[in-house]
Amino acid sequence: MQKKSTQELLIGAHTSSQGGAFNALLEGKEIGATTIQCFTANQKRWEGKEISEKDVELWEEALIKTGIQKVMSHDSYLINLGSPNKEGLEKSKAAFKKELLRCHKLKISFLNFHPGAALDSSEEECLKTIVSALSEMETLAAKGPTKLLIETTAGQGSTVGWKFEQIAYLTDKLHKIVPIGVCIDTCHIFSAGYDIRSREGWNKTLKEFDKIIGLKYLYALHVNDSMKPLGSKRDRHAPLGKGEIGIESFKAMMQHPDLQKLPKYLETPDGPPLWKKEIEMLREFAT
Ligand SMILES: [Zn+2]
Ligand SMILES: [Zn+2]
Repeated sequence: MQKKSTQELLIGAHTSSQGGAFNALLEGKEIGATTIQCFTANQKRWEGKEISEKDVELWEEALIKTGIQKVMSHDSYLINLGSPNKEGLEKSKAAFKKELLRCHKLKISFLNFHPGAALDSSEEECLKTIVSALSEMETLAAKGPTKLLIETTAGQGSTVGWKFEQIAYLTDKLHKIVPIGVCIDTCHIFSAGYDIRSREGWNKTLKEFDKIIGLKYLYALHVNDSMKPLGSKRDRHAPLGKGEIGIESFKAMMQHPDLQKLPKYLETPDGPPLWKKEIEMLREFAT
């Protein structure tokens, strides 16, 4: 029998919204999750379906039934708020606004998004474009409970958000305009060069995070091991303990005073059967 306190820790995974977003909550309950991440619409299409009254009803019922808290939505993979291409940027902003509206309807706590990719422009230009795109959401963002969380990236291709300095640029410029925060993805920061393989490594990384961005902006974690080595800038998730980060890192994470209470979402490759085991394991690490 586990202690009540570890059962209450918010740990879950990115569950499936197939057949309706409420199914992601039900799948979460089945794997022992106390929080989940999901897509509120098809993540591979520009035209996301709107949320109907019926959808809201099913969602609210499932929330009560499962007791799941602090739901996180992941935005569409197509969205690039830092695009140098005018048409691409307009489409991205429109899709992001629709996503935020869906989050508001479902009273979702966090909208997690990849900051953007510079493509053929510079990193500076990309960051400026992201700030101006998100600034346009000021009025809309104030209308609901959803916090916008910048996901730390691996730095694959021309993506920004892999260096803490780039994230700090965004939080500094945006925090008075929209409700902004950060979600650390363990695989991504490791691939980006932050060594979190040990307790000391986590301490050093979080000290740096605090100095450059500010720990008050850290709201959540994506928990993944990495198939690729430190500093490889490659985004390939591995099951916990089966990658280059290693199990000690996840033990240290679950015991760390700055991290233990934050909601955590698995995005490891093998789906529900693995997540169920990993959620249990993470809870045990916390004791
Ligand atoms: Zn992630
Ligand atoms: Zn990833």
